[in-house]
Amino acid sequence: IVDIKNVNKSFGPAHVLRGVDLQVAKGEVLVIIGASGSGKSTLIRCVNGLEAFQEGSITVDGCELPCEADRELGEEKRLNAVRRGVGMVFQQFNLFPHKTVLENVTLAPMRVRNKSQADAEATARRLLKRVGMQDHALKYPGQLSGGQQQRVAIARALAMEPHVMLFDEPTSALDPEMVGEVLDVMRELATEGMTMMIVTHEMGFAREVANRVVFIDRGKILEDGTPAEIFDAPKEDRTRTFLSRVL
Ligand code: ATP
Ligand code: MG
Repeated sequence: IVDIKNVNKSFGPAHVLRGVDLQVAKGEVLVIIGASGSGKSTLIRCVNGLEAFQEGSITVDGCELPCEADRELGEEKRLNAVRRGVGMVFQQFNLFPHKTVLENVTLAPMRVRNKSQADAEATARRLLKRVGMQDHALKYPGQLSGGQQQRVAIARALAMEPHVMLFDEPTSALDPEMVGEVLDVMRELATEGMTMMIVTHEMGFAREVANRVVFIDRGKILEDGTPAEIFDAPKEDRTRTFLSRVL
């Protein structure tokens, strides 16, 4: 469902993604690990079009994302089409602070998908229930804990009925006691067959939930395998060094 081919991306002189090839199948849960600055965020931001890349191709659900040159030629429409099918959850929850939980979840479906308010609210309430936030629909983000805000952010992404969900360190900004409740929601999504690409330092979660783990090193995918292969028998020295630091 996601097909990344030979993607190269630079920020000015910094060559941040160097020939990345990666395929994610429908229903697959892929965890991306790697050191700080290795390009994990840049890679998943490319998949939903938040960053432009210069070379290579990325196809999501059969729709090809425009590269940087195409964007300049007015391919923004195609970009929006892809983005609609990709849900994204960030480290900083990025909820709209002056909107209620319910409004946060209904806004995009109403504006972008032209859903009626009644329809959007019915979906939102169902999703809030799914993430255990049904009793907080009328609160503002500032009245919620970090873990609760992140669960609302997940519900908001799901409201757009994405084919793929991207997570960039969704639990890194949380107090330790709130990490579990967010991972539980993600684990449930995985069980239900959602296709997911997850950047995380939660190695226990990765081992348990991922179908596949890729290790990215200085903008290249150095190793790609099952959790057991990567965690128990890494082939590359650099993977071993990284894991010895984080495990
Ligand atoms: P972390 O684990 O710290 O989140 P990461 O693997 O997500 O790291 P990226 O954020 O993808 O790493 O960054 C990869 C490289 O690209 C880094 O060297 C970073 O400094 C650089 N970079 C990222 N975003 C920008 C930007 N907007 N402008 C210039 N350089 C950037
Ligand atoms: Mg990052």
